[in-house]
Amino acid sequence: MNPDVKSLLTVQQDDLDIYALEARLASLAPRLAALEQERSRAADALERARRAIEAEEARHRESKLRIETHRQLSERSQRQYESVTTPREATAAMAQLEQTRRMVTESERDAEAIHGRIEQLRQQASDLQQSLDEIEQTQSEARSSLDADRASIEAELTTARSKRDEHARAVPRPMLGNYDRIRRRRRAETVFPLRGPSCGACDTAVPTQRRASMAATGSLEMCEGCGALLYAAE
Ligand SMILES: [Zn+2]
Repeated sequence: MNPDVKSLLTVQQDDLDIYALEARLASLAPRLAALEQERSRAADALERARRAIEAEEARHRESKLRIETHRQLSERSQRQYESVTTPREATAAMAQLEQTRRMVTESERDAEAIHGRIEQLRQQASDLQQSLDEIEQTQSEARSSLDADRASIEAELTTARSKRDEHARAVPRPMLGNYDRIRRRRRAETVFPLRGPSCGACDTAVPTQRRASMAATGSLEMCEGCGALLYAAE
């Protein structure tokens, strides 16, 4: 085999190694995104529960004020009832007093129900906080393992790239330039041997004359079928 082609094949192997490392690096991103999604689902649920608690607490404060108002009404009715002078006034005042007492009871019941919901929501928020803590605990291991993976792949990439640069110096500039131009488009194996009379990648037949020239000079020829660079293997 032509020694320049042999050097180029070494560079191609380096490039394929680099592509594989880059793919591994890219595959870390969705894993990190999945962790982030899980965590933010739990955090959002907790945030919603906290907002619900705040809303119910505001309603509870309002219901307390309502109780107070109704109690004052009821006390006033009580005083009115005590100060009546005729049986007719007594009947009306009693009806009024009973109505205001019912209002007090109802507003107290209302406040009690809101208080019950707040207790429930607080329990729910505390459960959600606990599961968020657990998720963050579990994820901290997964995250540091992802960080370690990234660091190790990046280190491998640095080594692979400098090895590639070194090997590329052995390839004549025009041949390397030609190869790089096609490789960047393909982002995959670019240089193939002839297989019999045909392209080793796609099997398109290569004319006899071109094959003869490749064998004689060690030149690379582009396949008309798939655009790969072909060399004469023997
Ligand atoms: Zn081809």
